Parts: sequence; C-alpha cells; structure tokens
Amino acid sequence: MANKFFLHGADYNPEQWIKYKDTVWKEDMLRAKEAGINELNVGIFAWSFLEPEDGVYDFSWLDEVMDMLHENGMKAILATPSGARPPWLAEKYPSVLRMDKERKPHVFGGRHNGCVSSPDFQRKVLEINTRLAQRYANHPALYMWHVSNEYNNDCHCPRCQKAFQEWLRARYGTIDNLNDSWWNTFWSHRFTSFEQVESPTTPSWLGECESPNHNLAWRRFCSDNLIKFFQMECEPLRKYTPHIPITTNLMQTFPGIDYFAQGRVMDVSSWDNYPQWRGDERDVDISYDASFKHDLMRGVGGQKPFLMMESCPGAVNWGGVNTLPPPGTVLYQGLQAIAHGSDSVQYFQFRAGRGGSEQFHGSVLPPDGSADTRAFREVTEVSSALEKLQPACGSVTRNQIALVYDWPNRWALDYAWMAHRGNQKYEDTVRAHHTALVSAGYGVDMIDQLCDLTPYKAVIAPMVYLLRDGFAERLTRFAENGGLVYLTYLSGYVNEESLRHVTTPPLEALTGVRTDEIDAYDQGHENSFLWQSKAWPIKEMAQLSTPRGAQVLATYQQQFYQGQPVLTRNTVGSGVCYTLQARVDTDCLTAVLGDLLRQHGVTPLMENLPHGVIATARYGEEGEEFLFLLNSNREDVTVALNGAYTWLGSGEEAQGEIILKAFTVNGFVKK
Ligand SMILES: [Zn+2]
Repeated sequence: MANKFFLHGADYNPEQWIKYKDTVWKEDMLRAKEAGINELNVGIFAWSFLEPEDGVYDFSWLDEVMDMLHENGMKAILATPSGARPPWLAEKYPSVLRMDKERKPHVFGGRHNGCVSSPDFQRKVLEINTRLAQRYANHPALYMWHVSNEYNNDCHCPRCQKAFQEWLRARYGTIDNLNDSWWNTFWSHRFTSFEQVESPTTPSWLGECESPNHNLAWRRFCSDNLIKFFQMECEPLRKYTPHIPITTNLMQTFPGIDYFAQGRVMDVSSWDNYPQWRGDERDVDISYDASFKHDLMRGVGGQKPFLMMESCPGAVNWGGVNTLPPPGTVLYQGLQAIAHGSDSVQYFQFRAGRGGSEQFHGSVLPPDGSADTRAFREVTEVSSALEKLQPACGSVTRNQIALVYDWPNRWALDYAWMAHRGNQKYEDTVRAHHTALVSAGYGVDMIDQLCDLTPYKAVIAPMVYLLRDGFAERLTRFAENGGLVYLTYLSGYVNEESLRHVTTPPLEALTGVRTDEIDAYDQGHENSFLWQSKAWPIKEMAQLSTPRGAQVLATYQQQFYQGQPVLTRNTVGSGVCYTLQARVDTDCLTAVLGDLLRQHGVTPLMENLPHGVIATARYGEEGEEFLFLLNSNREDVTVALNGAYTWLGSGEEAQGEIILKAFTVNGFVKK
C-alpha cells in the first residue's frame, strides 16, 4: 500500500480520560494539530469501555472520538481490543485465562495473557470485532486496522494441548510418522497415539523439554496457533471493510511467532521500536541494531513500505534504568525508520495516563497536556522534517543483497544440543552480518528461507542450520544462475524436522566442502586467519571441513586443525558459493564480505562510509532515487557522494564531499 502522506501519529487512549473529556479531548485535538500529528491509534486495550458487561456494548464514546478525529483532519488506525481483557470476561469465562508450562493456571490481570484456543475467547473477540467492523466500515476517519497488540507467548492449558495434538495429526498424518520425525525410539519415547503428546515443559524432571524435534514442533504450533487467531480476528474486518488494510504491531526478533509467516497474511507490516539511546558513542551500535530491525520488519512485510507503529518520544519506564534520550533523538529515530522504508513515525503514547504501569512512560503530552516540553518540541520538529521528506513517501527499496533470518531455523538452533548449547547466537550473528553489509555501504533486504531469491545478486545466509524443504535446491539454482551465495559454519546440519541427514548433506555440492566437526571456544581458546595480509581473530566457533572441489582462500593459523580451510570458494554454474567456517567479529565480516561482493560486481550504495554512517535508498514510482545518509556519530563526518543530488527539503545541491552533521538523518534525491 503506497501512502499518499507520511503518517505522524501515536497510540491514543481517550477512554482513560472520559471523565475529563470536555477539556482533555478538546485539548488533545488542539495539541495534536500543533504538533503536526495526522493520525492516532485508538481502541487498543479499550475492551472494558466497549463492552462494559457481557453482551452490553457502548460505542458512543468511540463514535465521538472517531468523529472528533475526522473533524480535526486526522486519520484513525482502529484497534481490536483483544490485547487485554476486562475482568468480567475472566470471571464469567475462566477458559480465557492462560496456563503456564508448569501447568499452573493464571489469574486475571496483566495483558497479552489470554488463551487463544478458548472457544469463549474466540467467540467474544469475533463478536466485538464484527461490531467494530460493521459500525465503522464507512467512517471517513478509518484508515487501517490494528489487530490486537503485540501478540505473544504460549498457553499450555488442556484446550491448547488438544489443539497441539490436532496440529500434529495434520502435520504428520500418522503417529508412526511423528515418532520417526522426532526420533522417538531414543529413550523409548515412541507414542502410540497423538493424545499422549504433551507440550514441552521445564524443568526436565517435570516432563519433556530436551527433545529438539519435539520442542521445534511445539514452537511451530504456538506460532501457527497465534497466527490462526490473528486470521480469525481479521475475518470480520475483511468481510465488512475489504477496502481497509490490516496490520498488527510486531516486536522485531520476538522468538514466539514466525513473523515472515504472519507477514504473509497481513497487508502492512508494522512494529514497535524502542532503542535505548545513550547520547554517546554507544549510539553507533544502537543505530546499527535499529537499522537491522527496520530492515527485518520491512522484510516480513514483503519489502513494501512499513509503519513504525510505536517509538518513545522520551524515556521508557519499563527498563531497569530508564535513561533519558538526548536532544535530537526523536528526530533521528523517526527519520531512521523513514530511511529504511517506513511510511510513518508513530509514538507510544500521545497523552500519558495518570496511573497504571505506564504512567511514567515517555509520551507526546504529559497528563497535564502541556506543550512546553522537550518531547512536544521534538515531535513538532519531526512534523517539519516529514514534510520535507514527503516526496519519498510510498517509495520502495530495491536492494541487491538478501540476508536470511529464518524463525524455524532460529528455533532449531535454540534447541540444538551441541557447540554453545542454548546460546548459539543466531540473532547476534545475523545482526553482525547486517552491520557488516551496511558498513560496507550496501542496502540489505531481510528474507526467510521461503522468500523469492531471484530479485537479488547475492544471498547471505549465516548459520542456516535447519534447511527448510527446497531451500538448498533454490540456493543452488540461484548460484548456478550467476548469484553469489555466502554460507557459514553450522549450516545444513538438519532437515525441516531437525533430523540429521542419512545421505550426503544437501549443501555439500553447493559449498564444495564436507563439514566434519565443530569446535566451540571458551575463554583462552585462540585462533585466527589471514585475509588481505591481516590476521583476523576467530571467536566462539570454528568448523572443521574438508574441501570437495572448493578452492581454499584462507586457513586456520592455530589449534590442531591449523592449515585447514576457514574460507572457501566454490564455482557453481555461472555463480559462486563462499563458506566461512568460523565466527569472526563485525570488522572482519565487513572486510571479507565487502571484498567478495565487489569481486562479484555487487555495487554498494556508497563507498568508503565512515564508521557509524549508514546509506539507504528508496525508489519512487516516477523513477526518483532517494538516498538517505544516517550519521549516528556524535560528531560531524564528511562523505563523498557518487553523483549529483539535491537535499530534500532545502533543494540545495549536493555533490562530491558533503558534511553530515552529528546524529542526523539526511535525505537526498538524485538529479
Ligand atoms: Zn490455552
């Protein structure tokens, strides 16, 4: 969906202020306009006000809010309220309460803790969503649906056990097939019926928690079960408002849901971005991390423009130590989202509540509604900046490099009993590769193992331990057709079910290398390899391998496997596959990946970027090329532009060497 204008908005909870509405609601509208807010997210957590008693609905206040937004020229992203439930629901229908993995039932309270398998919960959610969709289908303020809020976590109640068993029956067909897929003859665990299978629990003396295959199936089920619930929530919205796009706010690398799978069944990806800026040199790494997460969240949405649904215009309050973001942060983090393909800058929250656990969470307005605050001034500054960048709204990315981050692979690694058990650092490793690629000046698309590889020149796939069906073949075809594939240690160890292979491992022909053993390093282990005449340290993991046709580019300098390959190159059709056999730091990855990609003709957006500077590009429908340069350093830096540009906003020319001011996001359009 291409927006016509950048959304600049916030979560807004007018129902919390209903007793003050004659003054506060009016002031809210005034302040929103002063700050350049053009959209508010309403209805999140509003269930007890929409349905104060079972079957008794009151939409009058929301009618008023929706009308008020429209009259004030604002759009509404309207939420369904399932993220938190009213007490009467738990009292009348106890099945809506979740059960934890020790099989202890929860009591009422908190949020995000309902049982999505509960028929009562499903029925009540469907009912209220239907009423919301019917009532606001043609309301001029309705811009998008925001389904629930930050779906998360598992339930182990008897209904969820049953749903798990049904899911297993659908996946495996027969119990014999499940037993074989989970290698259940081990420890005499062969089931004779699906009804015997329970969700994993901890600690281990309480039940099953050690089988990697069983654990992986449970993770897949929980993710599927939440996505199924999300789709159920969407049914009435799609039925009554087919013209209104649907999103739900995601949480970057949250392990509980395969966000690529969820992205495939929603219209727009959106996410909640909470970097903890420090005001010093640590912000460079924080900025790289936020860029990684923006690219990932754009990726789960199929690379279309996404929304930054939440960010904080001040200090959060849920950390142990809640450091104030330094001046300029709201602008930097907002425009960083735009640079990575977002069509919005949104905040949690518009006006802070007087009480509740988030009473001291940063907000656009304090409870007294004052506009004479740093947060308000900085939010207003974002409005002006978004106006200047407006030509880039709706534009898309077009990167040559795909970096693979895959949820089932992550789960399988989490449960892999080997190397650094329980701490294989998959996310850290993918992030390090992302940082290396952007440091080398490249724009990056994040994909999973099911995404189309054909738009890319290079596929970077670190630690693809679990190979989903068909991925090895698609990677091989990609290389044969001229692509660059890059793999690392811990790749291709297990199949879709996390079983080891009985035939030649499927990546052996692609890599031209046979994987033999993996060495995990603790403190005191040292190793290194030479690349471009420099010795680069190796840390944490080193894989031992034997060439089977690949050319050895670098070898281990130490340990008993000194002289064995660290980096190999295998020609595959008209393409190539590189394999890095050991874990190295980000600087090393920047050097190595930069060299390999350049040799293969993959061109960066910018050459010789200073540390802490990121380049991104977006492309408009009319052929416009927008370039964004982010300087996360706390000092000005000089960069050399390749070509003639115009600064977005000022219209000044930009060519050759230019200065990027400290901690700024700078937008340009190519001439
Ligand atoms: Zn349950």
